[in-house]
Amino acid sequence: LQQSALEYIKATHRKIKDRNPGESEFLQATWEVFDSLQPVFEQHPEYVEEGILERISEPERFITFRVTWEDDNGIVHVNRGYRVQFNSTLGPFKGGLRFHPSLTGSVVKFLGFEQIFKNALTGLPIGGGKGGSDFDPKGKSDREIMRFCQSFMTELSRHIGPDIDVPAGDIGVGKREIGYLFGQYKRIRNAFEAGVFTGKNPDNGGSLIRKEATGYGTVYFVEEMLKEQGLSFAGSTVIVSGSGNVSIYAMEKATEFGAKVIACSDSEGYIYDPDGIDVETVKQLKEVERKRIYHYLEHHPNARFGNDKSEIWTIPCDIALPCATQNEIGRESAEALVDNGIKALGEGANMPCDDEAVRVLTHNQVLFAPAKAANAGGVAVSAMEMSQNSMRYSWTAEEVDAKLHQVMKTIYKNCMETAGKYGSPGNLIVGANIAGFKKVADAMLDHGLS
Ligand code: GLU
Repeated sequence: LQQSALEYIKATHRKIKDRNPGESEFLQATWEVFDSLQPVFEQHPEYVEEGILERISEPERFITFRVTWEDDNGIVHVNRGYRVQFNSTLGPFKGGLRFHPSLTGSVVKFLGFEQIFKNALTGLPIGGGKGGSDFDPKGKSDREIMRFCQSFMTELSRHIGPDIDVPAGDIGVGKREIGYLFGQYKRIRNAFEAGVFTGKNPDNGGSLIRKEATGYGTVYFVEEMLKEQGLSFAGSTVIVSGSGNVSIYAMEKATEFGAKVIACSDSEGYIYDPDGIDVETVKQLKEVERKRIYHYLEHHPNARFGNDKSEIWTIPCDIALPCATQNEIGRESAEALVDNGIKALGEGANMPCDDEAVRVLTHNQVLFAPAKAANAGGVAVSAMEMSQNSMRYSWTAEEVDAKLHQVMKTIYKNCMETAGKYGSPGNLIVGANIAGFKKVADAMLDHGLS
């Protein structure tokens, strides 16, 4: 009996659900991709015959390990380390490390799964992976961070390498952590394998513009989407959640493009500045002083602070750029954005809108730039860092920025063309999912069963 493409996709997802019980984030992310694939499976019976959908949803390898470290008072702590080596069809596993107490196997797997397709969309030779720990860097001293990173890398170093698996930063892992992690890897291997880690300090092996790349890239991508409708960042009001790397450089680029960014947030609340957020103050507070966002009010008394961070989405704006974390926008926040006349949303974080929010926004004709396309600039420049490390050479900031801009334009064009070709013109969600999936699936067919 011949199953329809849709029945096949649903049946496969049920298998994945049985195999990964209770892993809500992973099941959410897999279904989000599967949901776009019906027209692909109708046209390509070979994907069914070769079991591609089930194979692509099972990591090649999933590693968990114990991380023991001692705090400044001599007390011993245990955390769990993770690395999911999801798919190496297009290149070495590639993806960040996240240090956050909310990290679970399900979250690591959702992030790793997304990473496969995001990385494929960049057009650069990188597979998909992700990792991290439930360790909370907040409130820890530099020495404690260092001891944790050294312990974490002592185990992780067995599994990675410049041609095997190349981690980078993510939430809770910035240049300080990357320095300690890379230093420990170098010591263990007794070799300067610069290409084993990206996001390194540009003074010792990193790429210029890597820090800025995810935020800049999101704005470049959204600007392409706006342009197509005769809109632009120039003259628009923008809300950007978060105040980490992604958020700061999205605010910087949006402001440079003539927008007024009026709000941003951290895990304890949000700030609203009717005069426009002063990005330099946020940089100073977050990158240098490691302080909470409410300290912004000490520098800009016109601004207001709210301790319910989801309230940020009730402020009227033209463009929203969620750049904090997964599922930060649910149905209610999406409805508030729509009621206030939002025109476009670009996902700087990974899966910041849950499926109901996406439905509300898209049904109300809000232009929607999905994460795996919109935030691919970070990992794209990571791939460029790998290239520079291989060459033992470095490009100027202008060169890297120009390449990043071009990559984002190309991803946009590819998503639009793919969406049109598969019957959903203008739908970037469908375009990104199908373009990313097809690139990996076709390469998997080339490589035979594995
Ligand atoms: N963590 C980033 C992401 O979600 C960057 C990964 C990388 O540069 O490898 O794409």
